[in-house]
Amino acid sequence: MKNSENLVLIKVYDKKANALINRSIDEFIPELVAAQINIDFELEAIKAQTIIARTALIRKARIFGGEGCTKHIDADFCTEGHCGPWISKEKLKSKWGKNFQKNWEKLVRANEETRYLIMTIKNKVINPRYHPTCGGSTENSENVEDYNVLYLRKVLCNYCTSSPYWENFKDVSIDEIEEKFNIKLGKTSPINEANIDNIIEVIERDEEGRVKKIKLGDKVFKGTEFCKCLGLDSTRFGWRPTALRFETRGKGHGLGLCQYGANEIAKQGQKAEEILRYYYTGIDIKKYEKPDKNKPINNKVIVIDPGHGGKENTGVIGELGLIEKDITLSISQELKKELEDLGAQVILTRYTDEYISLNKRAKIANEIRPNFFISIHMNSFTNSNIAGTEIYHYRGDKEGENIANFIIKNMAEKIGSVNRGVKVADFYLLKTVTKSAIHIEVEYLTNLEEEKKLMECDYSKKIAQSIANGITEYYQYQI
Ligand SMILES: [Zn+2]
Ligand SMILES: [Zn+2]
Ligand SMILES: [Zn+2]
Repeated sequence: MKNSENLVLIKVYDKKANALINRSIDEFIPELVAAQINIDFELEAIKAQTIIARTALIRKARIFGGEGCTKHIDADFCTEGHCGPWISKEKLKSKWGKNFQKNWEKLVRANEETRYLIMTIKNKVINPRYHPTCGGSTENSENVEDYNVLYLRKVLCNYCTSSPYWENFKDVSIDEIEEKFNIKLGKTSPINEANIDNIIEVIERDEEGRVKKIKLGDKVFKGTEFCKCLGLDSTRFGWRPTALRFETRGKGHGLGLCQYGANEIAKQGQKAEEILRYYYTGIDIKKYEKPDKNKPINNKVIVIDPGHGGKENTGVIGELGLIEKDITLSISQELKKELEDLGAQVILTRYTDEYISLNKRAKIANEIRPNFFISIHMNSFTNSNIAGTEIYHYRGDKEGENIANFIIKNMAEKIGSVNRGVKVADFYLLKTVTKSAIHIEVEYLTNLEEEKKLMECDYSKKIAQSIANGITEYYQYQI
């Protein structure tokens, strides 16, 4: 099945190799599923988990508009646990030994039989939560995470009663409880006892504190007998509880799919899709769209910020009368068209000649949470000989720096501007916008030659095309 046409690649940060590795989604998914579910479960339960793994991966991968691994730059997924459970095929070989072949085939089959299928709601990829055993019913999302998610609704599940997690317990010592909760449950002296009704109870003590008769459950023992039996040092004794046994039912947060329940439903002959529809309320199951070669930045969301604006904030004014706020707006509008043609969704911080505070611009961007943010400006300098392009990013914003390098290289090639370098700056917007952000000083309005070029009618479009080229190259390089 190695048809390169069908290959959708993601970038995986491999901890062992300490490198980014291209992996095909279809090869990678079985390694995710192996780490997420008991391989001995029914095929339909494994298939349901496969759709869950694929849904989560598509939601995360940057070629589908996700934000990728938030720890490793340029990675869609990392193998160090941060992005979720994963186990390598190599590890599985040693873990499963002689069963490897059979188990691996089961995973591959589950992938083939659910190929491309993901869960969506209103055309948006869902966040497919799951847990080992719900213990009778799953949970409404707001009871676990404070927010209401349409498809994470409580459903009754009496399918997981034979799960090993259906009932379980944990003994916790009183000392541990005192420490964890920072409380004192009180110490006893040898002749006091804590009151644990119906379990242990002193019937009679003498004046000196010796136990004469003691009731354990519903049996009464002589103090001496009891003492001998337990090997206590003295009949002058008390007790205190030193541990509490917490009995539990179910395992996990209770959101979404109950795995043991899913397995039981599969045993009863239901299919993976029916299982998923049972646990995720109101979802659709459909094939994901493969990234389109003609739309290389499909699903990307980009905010463009035309610098300055309004009467009170014109920016630089050139010798021939060009005004920075007008050029930044026209380049931004051209750039919007270019990027939309390439599949991106583009939002401007202003569409007209109006004053917008920096604070408001940052707010717009931070509410949208785009893939990245670009401010467009024109430069100025006292020495009118100075010409060329500069791009700024915030210190440590690696993605911003990478995008900037692709853009500045393309601008130099396509419009012939002097590459004055990609630099670090702590401009308000670079600092305040929470996603990768760059600030382009396109050219110098104080340089007569550059101002003349900017007056040519299709020059804004050329600039926009060169910027769009840089962005596309950046993302293609990533794929
Ligand atoms: Zn990660
Ligand atoms: Zn359950
Ligand atoms: Zn400016």
